Amino acid sequence: MSSGYSLRPIVISGPSGSGKSTLLKKLFAEYPDTFGFSVSHTTRGPRPGEENGIAYHFVDRPSFEKLIEAKAFLEHAQFSGNYYGTTIQAVQDVAKGGKLAILDIDMQGVISVKNTDLNARYLFLSPPSLEILRTRLEGRGTESPESVQKRMDQAIKEIEFSKTGAHDKAIVNDDLDRAYKELKEFIFDPSA
Ligand code: ADP
Ligand code: 5GP
Repeated sequence: MSSGYSLRPIVISGPSGSGKSTLLKKLFAEYPDTFGFSVSHTTRGPRPGEENGIAYHFVDRPSFEKLIEAKAFLEHAQFSGNYYGTTIQAVQDVAKGGKLAILDIDMQGVISVKNTDLNARYLFLSPPSLEILRTRLEGRGTESPESVQKRMDQAIKEIEFSKTGAHDKAIVNDDLDRAYKELKEFIFDPSA
């Protein structure tokens, strides 16, 4: 593995429940001074353990819509009935701390960010199968049955989108340690 890493921001996307947060938590714990999370805004409520300003900036719809009007967002989208968006400030805050930004966004965000000058690298995280995805989403214990179903419906679209070649690399999150090793290979070796 190369000792360097590309200065281009990393965008990680993939179905809700595919393991993006789990892998990123490991990465930030191992490299606290190197990578920084681009903290998105969302109108969904916090899950147990999610801190405001760390996992997301949790805001109500009027506040989110004010930020849209103020053109604060690099990109924003609606997912499963809620707004999600990356502010320009969120990405700048990471850079100000001298770290490389990592964005966790959905496929609409990927399409939007590709139309900006962020010059990011795109990673798709896939579950081993839709059945396993459902088991993991249910096992996380954070979603109502209706929310699980919406996320499963969206997962099919995310997986279809990943076949269009929009991403630089796809990783299947089967065994966590192996997926984490592949994530690091991608981040530290831009040719991977
Ligand atoms: P996302 O951030 O993509 O929505 P999470 O990181 O919250 O997904 O993962 C969804 C659930 O799956 C969590 O309960 C997590 O502990 C579990 N999980 C993640 N990766 C694996 C894995 N490789 N094997 C088994 N369970 C996993
Ligand atoms: P969750 O509610 O599971 O945290 O996230 C739901 C989906 O929203 C995931 O696919 C996640 O990647 C995406 N998401 C999170 N933040 C943003 C964002 O700022 N912009 C966009 N477009 N999607 C986001």
